[in-house]
Amino acid sequence: MKTLQAIAAELQGYDPQALSAAGARDFLLRLVEPVTQTEEVDIFSALGRVLARDVTSPISVPPHDNSAMDGFAFDGSQLAPDRPLQLKLLGTALAGKAWSGAVAAGECVRIMTGAVMPRGLDTVVPQELASIDGDQVTVAANALQAGENRRLLGEDLLQGSAALHQGQLLTPASLGLLASLGLSQVTVLRRLRVAYFSTGDEILSLGEAPREGAVYDSNRYTVFGLLTRLGCEVIDMGVVRDEPALLEAAFNRAALQADAIITSGGVSVGAADYTKLMMKQLGDVAFWKIAMRPGRPMAVGRIGQAVLFGLPGNPVAVMVTFLAFVRPALLQMMGSAATELPLLRAHSTQAIRKKPGRTEYQRGIVSQGANGSLQVQVTGNQGSGVLSSMVQANGLIVLDHAQGNVAAGEAVNVMMFDGVI
Ligand code: AMP
Ligand code: MG
Repeated sequence: MKTLQAIAAELQGYDPQALSAAGARDFLLRLVEPVTQTEEVDIFSALGRVLARDVTSPISVPPHDNSAMDGFAFDGSQLAPDRPLQLKLLGTALAGKAWSGAVAAGECVRIMTGAVMPRGLDTVVPQELASIDGDQVTVAANALQAGENRRLLGEDLLQGSAALHQGQLLTPASLGLLASLGLSQVTVLRRLRVAYFSTGDEILSLGEAPREGAVYDSNRYTVFGLLTRLGCEVIDMGVVRDEPALLEAAFNRAALQADAIITSGGVSVGAADYTKLMMKQLGDVAFWKIAMRPGRPMAVGRIGQAVLFGLPGNPVAVMVTFLAFVRPALLQMMGSAATELPLLRAHSTQAIRKKPGRTEYQRGIVSQGANGSLQVQVTGNQGSGVLSSMVQANGLIVLDHAQGNVAAGEAVNVMMFDGVI
């Protein structure tokens, strides 16, 4: 486990007061380490978990050559160009009920999709390309080539090959693949435990009566949702009032129980509350000013064994800093090989003002344009407290550090979060 100082020394020109978004991400990926404990889970509990080791295929899939079509199986070497082929029909091979007899030249067997190919046969003519008259099947001239419409043994997976790799997040397709190998259990890394709380004396918990100058705590719920979608075990610590003893108790309790602690609020430059002070006192913590919008202030480091992500207070800034920095870091802690959300290219429907020298994350709505290509429209108010724009959006337009204004029609990068967060 490296100290913040050691990481800072590894990075060229690290300046916590003027950090680029890329620099912040780089720092965090050096700070966090993957969990190592594993557990064996049932396939139904494996969705979204991270595979602890490669899964080697115990069998070949499919386990035998089989037909890809409903049709007639025969020996394809009899096909000759420009003339039809006449075959005598011997019987039927069904899926799950193989044809065991011999099939000689000039003969064929009716075969259903998935049925084992009869011995010595390599080709299936689909029903619609053959004509049948009694027990006579005619394959039209040039209808197909030898070897067509047959699935080969092991064409999906060969026995002994790696079917799934360590660090893969198990998807619906991976569950199906495990099942196709006859595996009902799988070894995954343990779930990450993440504690979170909101800070600030103006923050109301749900159920509290509204009062002058106070706002309801929304960060607690967005963070809960973001962590749950990532498959983390969440430890919800509510709102912690701005009193040193309460903050200290909350940080200590979180550090004892969790791999990571996420707080929101109280980390900006002018913050008059005790959050920063407590972080400094209890842990090894750096306070960053990141060249980004929304976002900017962020505290990172460790309290005890737990990694600390001190996010800004503004609701949109919380989500953006989570997606840009916390999510990749947590995925690395989860042992996931992939940590970044994919970026799409879409054409901006309008001009966007952008200052070079900071990364901007604008909320956008991606849709299909009239010509079929992707387009993205900026949601109205981009204020860092305007959570409704985050609800409308299906992705974040990521405008790079060096980039200037965007012209209407220009292609931009979009970090999609539809279906991801
Ligand atoms: P801070 O970073 O603590 O100065 O907070 C910045 C802004 O975000 C202020 O307007 C806060 O009222 C607001 N804010 C902080 N925490 C929350 C929260 N948990 N839910 C909603 N708004 C918040
Ligand atoms: Mg505050």
